Amino acid sequence: MRIALVAHDKKKDDMIDFAKRYKEVLKNHQLYATGTTGKLLNEIVGLDVYRFLSGPLGGDQQIGAKLAEGKMDMIIFLRDPLTAQPHEPDVTALIRLSDVHHIPLATNLGTAEVFMKALGDR
Ligand code: PGA
Repeated sequence: MRIALVAHDKKKDDMIDFAKRYKEVLKNHQLYATGTTGKLLNEIVGLDVYRFLSGPLGGDQQIGAKLAEGKMDMIIFLRDPLTAQPHEPDVTALIRLSDVHHIPLATNLGTAEVFMKALGDR
């Protein structure tokens, strides 16, 4: 599956921890990420990740474009619900597109773990 991983700044530690725990599952899939998230996943976790632009510079929109073209199958988006984001409209657009195209999107660790368990059982 083609999986996009995105984490807002205050959720990046959670994303790294999550990716370490599910590295054996994730490494079997084609991984994509926004710029900074992807760099961390590559350098710290050792995953092979295609990096789009950083989220605030358009990375979320790039992921949305892939999704709209039928080229993204799952999104793990660890949002920070307590901090205003300059690119909030892009975040909302990505979530909207996932609903339009019926693409599973996890916005928190609980849902993300359920997704990983589902992938691991396949
Ligand atoms: P980043 O973008 O991985 O480049 O930090 C994430 C975001 O804030 O959407």
